[in-house]
Amino acid sequence: MLFFKNLKYQVFIISVLFFNTTINGQNGINAKTFYKHDKYLSSDKMEGRFPGTKGNNEAASYIKRYFKKYGLKEFNRNYYQTFKLFVKEGINKVKSDSVNTQNVVGYLEGSDEKLKNEYIVIGAHYDHWGWGGQNSGSKKKEAFAIHNGADDNASGVSALLCILQELSNAKVKPKRSIIFISFSGEEEGLLGSKYFVSHLPVEKNAVKVMLNMDMVGRLNEEKQIYMGGAGTFPNGVELMKKLGENSTLNPVIHAGEVGGSDHVSFYKAAISAIGFHTGGHPQYHTPEDDIDLINIQGGALVSQYIYNALVAIANDPQQLYFIKQN
Ligand SMILES: [Zn+2]
Repeated sequence: MLFFKNLKYQVFIISVLFFNTTINGQNGINAKTFYKHDKYLSSDKMEGRFPGTKGNNEAASYIKRYFKKYGLKEFNRNYYQTFKLFVKEGINKVKSDSVNTQNVVGYLEGSDEKLKNEYIVIGAHYDHWGWGGQNSGSKKKEAFAIHNGADDNASGVSALLCILQELSNAKVKPKRSIIFISFSGEEEGLLGSKYFVSHLPVEKNAVKVMLNMDMVGRLNEEKQIYMGGAGTFPNGVELMKKLGENSTLNPVIHAGEVGGSDHVSFYKAAISAIGFHTGGHPQYHTPEDDIDLINIQGGALVSQYIYNALVAIANDPQQLYFIKQN
């Protein structure tokens, strides 16, 4: 009995090791974890994570739990930054209404005595279109159905949590401090990031670069990860190219073209900002943007690439400053 038990245990260990090395490749971020977060956040239980709803609050509480688990500190003893949002009539079964929603925020202190007073921000919005409706941004307004948003933007949050977990496992912490944030109200016009930028928990001059992930779950066969704003901080384009050479990805790098998501709020405030995504698709802003279409291996690869970028920027010995792009 004992022998069999042992044998079973050994088989278990071997298969765990095999499984992990297979899906991890040589790196730490794995597809299984990426899938776990994306699946949970895009499940019907979240009802499309519309601001002010139970599903939105549950998603926030899920993110908060991992922020805490992986050792992020709170600003003002609270992971939540609450703000008000006005919902137009005809969205998500709602009559026009003012609701409370929240950004989820935490930070990891830098390891360098001096550089820890500077901050790199990494973020991804967690809200989506709920049940859609006439005044929503849904491409299928007539279909009153849960918009799960597995790519938009459960995938970005999934990447955010994978990157955080990897960082919590790292023996040497980055020199600069890192703020992790998951925004709400992005779909209504970047409202969470606008609120954050105008209510920063640290001095604005101390915020050096913002990295944003919005729709990173649909890596294509050419393995193209797109980014805008790489030229808004010193040697950004070169760095992103170099990181691509050491990965299996094909980065499509734009120095400018800062557009489309929450990093714009930072850029407009003259903070260097880079936005990542894996491209559009027919399911964009429809109830069909679902977990079965997510490239989970791709999501892990993209997360690893952005993790490497984050660490490189946070450790960069040169001075970081804003470079305006046209
Ligand atoms: Zn969207």
